[in-house]
Amino acid sequence: MTDRELLISGLQALLPSVCPQAVEDLLRFSAMLRETNKVMNLTAVTDPNEIVTRHFLDCAALAPYMQPGARVVDVGTGAGFPGLPLAVLCPQTEFILLDALRKRVDFINEGIASLGLVNCTAVHARAEEFAADNRESFDIAVSRAVADLRVLVELTLPLIRVGGSFYAMKAAGCEAEVQAARHACETLGAPETQLISYTVPHSGVDRMLVFLKKSLPTPAQYPRRFKKIQSTPL
Ligand code: SAM
Repeated sequence: MTDRELLISGLQALLPSVCPQAVEDLLRFSAMLRETNKVMNLTAVTDPNEIVTRHFLDCAALAPYMQPGARVVDVGTGAGFPGLPLAVLCPQTEFILLDALRKRVDFINEGIASLGLVNCTAVHARAEEFAADNRESFDIAVSRAVADLRVLVELTLPLIRVGGSFYAMKAAGCEAEVQAARHACETLGAPETQLISYTVPHSGVDRMLVFLKKSLPTPAQYPRRFKKIQSTPL
């Protein structure tokens, strides 16, 4: 199968309908990623078919949870994952993609401009500092491959409004990590946790979404400075 065929078939397996323009946009972003990756460390995945499965289809599994009209923050987006594919697939949802590395943010903003996306912006910031001016201002947070859940929840939950949701993308078998983060989740206002298993189409890879519902405000003393979050996670 070509990467185009793989992408179309995988998206059809995950979503009720697939917009042809979204397929074109994702393939264009794949080409940009491969080209820029020659001179900048963006991703370890360079095979076009693997970019489709390991990046696009893995991220597309979150699309059904991205409500139209919602404001979503992707914490530690790296080269744009999961936020950029979700912005392409969910044009009625607004995405802010955060990363601490400026060159990655610049790459994503070039991609956003090249694809003409109007529902997506990449911002150069550390999540724990971004919270000072953007506290509890997002409906949803998403994140993949950034930190252990105990640390990650202190970076993300302060950004989410009460009643909002956090979807952490994790490998299958992350139950012990989730259990270890229970105290942190409760302290930060998200005592309810749900695990959602899924298999990435065309790769057979089993993955898990950790779904946290934020039901209480995050106490004002959080997030702490990053060193503190890492050295003494909640
Ligand atoms: N989410 C992407 C993915 O799944 O491909 C990137 C994962 S990469 C391993 C982790 C990214 O998180 C890096 O680009 C790093 O700069 C970013 N990051 C780590 N801590 C951060 C923080 N406190 N605030 C913002 N970005 C952070």
